[in-house]
Amino acid sequence: MGKVKFVYDFEEGDGKNKQLLGGKGAGLAEMTQIGLPVPPGFTITIEACRQYYANRKKLPKDLMAEVTEHIKHLEDKTKKRFGRTKNPLLVSVRSGAAMSMPGMMDTILNLGLNDLVVEGIGKATKNRRFAYDAYRRFIQLFGKIALVVDDIHFDTILEKIKKRIGAKFDTNLDTESLVKICAEFKKVVKKEFGRKFPQDPWKQLQMAIEAVFSSWMRKRAVDYRKEFKITPQMANGTAVNIVTMVFGNMGKDSATGVNFTRDPGTGENVLYGEYLTNAQGEDVVAGIRTPKPIAQLKKEMPKQYEELERTRCLLEQHYREAQDFEFTIERGKLYVLQTRNAKMNAAAMVKTSYDMVMEKLLTKEEALLRINPEHLEQLLHRQIDSMAHAEPVAKGIPASPGAAWGKVVFDADEAERLGRLGEAIILVREETKPEDIHGFFQANGILTSRGGKTSHAAVVTRAMGKPCIVGCEDIHINHRNKVVTIKNHNIMMGEVITIDGATGSIYLGEVPTVDPEFSPEFGTILKWADEIKTLGVRANAETPEDVARAKKLGAEGIGLCRTERMFNATDRLPIVREMILAEKTKKRKEALNKLLLMQKADFKKILMRMEGLPVTIRLLDLPLHEFLPSVELLVWEIERLKEVQHSLRQTETIPDSAKLFLEPTLQKYLLKVKHAMSNLSEIRKEHLLDELIKKKEEVLQKVRDSTEVNPMLGNRGVRLAIKYPEIYRMQIRAILEASVELIKSGVDVLPEIMVPQVVTSQELKEVHRWLEAIKRDVKKECDIQIPLQFGTMIETVRACMRAGRLADVTDFFSFGSNDLTQATFSFSREDAENKFLPLYNEMKILMDNPFEVLDIKGVGRLMKITIDLGKKSNSNLKIGICGEHAGNPRSIEFCQALGLTYVSCSPYRIPIARLAAAQARLKEKKLDHAELNNEDYPFNIFF
Ligand code: ADP
Ligand code: MG
Ligand code: MG
Repeated sequence: MGKVKFVYDFEEGDGKNKQLLGGKGAGLAEMTQIGLPVPPGFTITIEACRQYYANRKKLPKDLMAEVTEHIKHLEDKTKKRFGRTKNPLLVSVRSGAAMSMPGMMDTILNLGLNDLVVEGIGKATKNRRFAYDAYRRFIQLFGKIALVVDDIHFDTILEKIKKRIGAKFDTNLDTESLVKICAEFKKVVKKEFGRKFPQDPWKQLQMAIEAVFSSWMRKRAVDYRKEFKITPQMANGTAVNIVTMVFGNMGKDSATGVNFTRDPGTGENVLYGEYLTNAQGEDVVAGIRTPKPIAQLKKEMPKQYEELERTRCLLEQHYREAQDFEFTIERGKLYVLQTRNAKMNAAAMVKTSYDMVMEKLLTKEEALLRINPEHLEQLLHRQIDSMAHAEPVAKGIPASPGAAWGKVVFDADEAERLGRLGEAIILVREETKPEDIHGFFQANGILTSRGGKTSHAAVVTRAMGKPCIVGCEDIHINHRNKVVTIKNHNIMMGEVITIDGATGSIYLGEVPTVDPEFSPEFGTILKWADEIKTLGVRANAETPEDVARAKKLGAEGIGLCRTERMFNATDRLPIVREMILAEKTKKRKEALNKLLLMQKADFKKILMRMEGLPVTIRLLDLPLHEFLPSVELLVWEIERLKEVQHSLRQTETIPDSAKLFLEPTLQKYLLKVKHAMSNLSEIRKEHLLDELIKKKEEVLQKVRDSTEVNPMLGNRGVRLAIKYPEIYRMQIRAILEASVELIKSGVDVLPEIMVPQVVTSQELKEVHRWLEAIKRDVKKECDIQIPLQFGTMIETVRACMRAGRLADVTDFFSFGSNDLTQATFSFSREDAENKFLPLYNEMKILMDNPFEVLDIKGVGRLMKITIDLGKKSNSNLKIGICGEHAGNPRSIEFCQALGLTYVSCSPYRIPIARLAAAQARLKEKKLDHAELNNEDYPFNIFF
């Protein structure tokens, strides 16, 4: 076996191979090869990192020899010498995994400096101040990262010396102070690290490479991968990039910055970004100085700005994707230091997808595939309600859109703690750092007083789709007193504020929010998706607002109208109770008649709104006792009523005592007392209380009788209907009468009746008999053909196994995947999610929450069996899914593979499902048959 090659010059690396070179390394190689000005350098592969870990954190044996050889290449290209005092070569040592993990791993700049080389740099650049500035940065960064010396030691020294000479900024430090700082820094290293600061550049290089490799397994990097579900298949270690240093801090003709080829907030096709003159790369990202918008560079350095514009074009033409790139200008010469696909919010993704199709950079299919459907949720996020006329108290830089409110918290640990307790949190800080990441996960929004649009807080929240405002200079945090001053308002920790990340506005208190409006581009993209997808997308909705929303968001029908929810309204509950508690059929019928009118009106509204589209109405599915008051409440009420009764009885003794009111001091009350007495005796005589108590006791008895040990597995769904057929009969009649009335007035209706909790075709046949009878009845009054469909929910395991027989008597199936998942696992969802699922996920016994992501191997296989059995006996059978999974893109992909007719999800998720369905179709088209039968094919349920 030949020797493994661990090191690739940028000229020779394969820019497509991110798994080997990491994203940064691949980008540097590719940019070098298309002729962009990248400083010379090379990449140590991720394979080397893997071996480092496999080898108990030791570098592969020949690695340093190979590195030495490539450093020689750099020396030849740059005409500089590594570790020599004459014209020395300095490099950066940079991390870079296959997936971008901004700020999670380490990079060391200015490596190669020591006490002698620093003087050499001073001579070579004719700028001794600059040389020592670079040296003190290097000692601090190397000390922190490779020698694990806490930043605070360095910062204290820096602050002390700045104060001593009255320097406000680092840039005010003179050469002498910098020399002094370097000396003190080295002392700190000696003290904290226990050994002298390493002077041998080769030794520095090796330690730096090891430090970068180790940063891969550091807690915050591991946490980040967990949160963003980055699996070892996606990224398995970090590469190390060694890059010739270029300096943005060599004076007024030098600068550094980060740019996007398009605006990542809006998608607008303009160069977008920020820069700092006379600064080194880290300064922009760290948010220490607030940078200038890139447009200003046009005035400051017009030639270099032109070059940036050219770079922008080249990058986009080459990658056919918006880029986010780092640059540095050293004495007028532009260098590009990194590029990667830009992280944009959903609005920008949608806009650029549309634009790039118009610019013929992408095909419609490519444009649809590049948008993550889950991110569309951001566009469906709520906005500040303009009708609330709320006045912002301050404004910052809008960094990630969406409106959010929450209690003010000043540190990440506290945010995490309170967030876990279910509090709404806004994390407020001067600036954020990668180690704050756990606080981000729990916060509803982030607000910082420093930093720009490319600061840590901005980049991370955009990726997470969380509202964020940065650089709001009007806020001042007093950590000691736990209070933040916004303009002249003092806000204590725990008080509520609202932020609008789209505008940068900050409000006191909780401001109401509303549904957003869609851009025309978004509408077009969704239309493209509809043209491609073959899977229908329907909504689960029953209230008029939800139905209207579903229609507006493009639902092609209602896939689940849950009638029990319609019974819960305050004006209906008493009637429902009346019906349940009625002793005699007559009384029950009276109550049912009242409900009939209400349900008919409900169905008319929905059918009308969804004119011409199918509406699946599920007959009642809830244990009846859920409509009744609880035992505890009834017992309490009865006790209280008895107490009142008792007190009332005692008032009978008042007339005897009333004589006392003849006493002069009490006399003025005599009349009032007499009055009260007569009122009370009236109540007593009417025996109202006795009756009320009796009634309550009857209800209590009824409630006790109907109590079930396990109501969710008890007398519910179709089982309840078999016992009390009047309820379903009423609902069926309401549906038929509503349909007839609408048809008569010229409205197209497509009602579908769905029976829940079915286990056998006998149940369906029984309900169908009622349906036929009612149909005949309705027809007698008015002979109109109703295009009615009859179907069943598939949510029990037995129903799956008997699907053939069920299909004999139905037009459609709809998988109730929530209940079906519970039934398949024999888990109750609440208990699973609260008690053991998190542990199962952590231990990787189960990879996902099966209530969110459809369990393909188990539930999915059951679905496949059901479909095969069902279609075999009824080839016209339509099959949908209406559980929560129906709105999950991965599950939608599986539904496509199963050949379902439609998915039905919550109205808010309709646009997500439309796009996901189009993507599922496009991905399916790419698969060939062999792949479908491959064990590794994720949707292959037979392995
Ligand atoms: P990250 O992955 O955290 O962005 P980078 O490796 O990109 O880390 O480096 C951090 C900063 O240092 C960036 O601003 C980058 O542009 C800058 N930088 C890295 N290497 C060099 C170099 N050789 N010359 C000048 N600046 C550099
Ligand atoms: Mg970078
Ligand atoms: Mg169910």
